[in-house]
Amino acid sequence: MALPKKSESKYQPPIHAGDTASDLLARWGFDSNNVAILPDRHPQHRECTRHGRYPISTVDDLGTIRYMSPVCPVCAAEQASRRLMESAAIPARYIDCDFSNYVVEVTGQQTALDTCRDYAEHFDERARKGSCLILCGDPGTGKNHLASAIARAVLAQGRSVLHVTAYDIIARIRQTWQQRGVGNSTELEVIRGFAEVGLLIIDEVGKTFGSDGERVHLFEVIDHRYRDMRPTMILSNEDIDGIEKYLGKAAFDRLCQNGGLLRFDWQSHRRGKEYGSDPAA
Ligand SMILES: [Zn+2]
Repeated sequence: MALPKKSESKYQPPIHAGDTASDLLARWGFDSNNVAILPDRHPQHRECTRHGRYPISTVDDLGTIRYMSPVCPVCAAEQASRRLMESAAIPARYIDCDFSNYVVEVTGQQTALDTCRDYAEHFDERARKGSCLILCGDPGTGKNHLASAIARAVLAQGRSVLHVTAYDIIARIRQTWQQRGVGNSTELEVIRGFAEVGLLIIDEVGKTFGSDGERVHLFEVIDHRYRDMRPTMILSNEDIDGIEKYLGKAAFDRLCQNGGLLRFDWQSHRRGKEYGSDPAA
């Protein structure tokens, strides 16, 4: 059997150093009349209405143009952080809350800001010791703002964060009672799920009735985290006694051991100022 004849190789023009940029661009399918793609027209920039000028192309020493994604890098970083915050279930209202936009008008607020910032910045150490933090005080005093700022900072350190209400925990555990069957989580699996998160923020502690049954569920989660040395944050409109009464002494003791407590005892700032307004402006 005869071997098939070798087909003649297709003619390929050699690339000469003398090829003009426009010839190359034409061969690559670019419109060489479009001056915007020639190297001398780079780097190019775009304007973000919020963050100003950012580059969308660079030219290296050899004249090679490198295009970057035509998205403002600051906006992109913000969006990535927003996605993380959403996965951490941070309420939408607090998603833009940061240490930098927390309004300080009285000494107590400065102390709260410093304590929370320190907690976030040294989270590695806090996580190793399982240090907890309780933020209590009237609604509108900025507990959620600082908790969200901590969440944001902890997420940026590559750790998982979950922001839930006490009611969410109780409801999630009780859900397992009605859904016994293949593929459904057991009560213990749900408790373990809450126990595995890098930082668990339990909000609205004291808002539900606080029956013995509810107390048991919250204790189980707090106790699992305590034994695994994982930090838990508690947010409550109750005073210290109210939190202890609601959670029960055993859970409260575990939180306080090696933990901090911040009283937000200044006037609500939702009343006077618009919440979330930019203090830098
Ligand atoms: Zn931007």
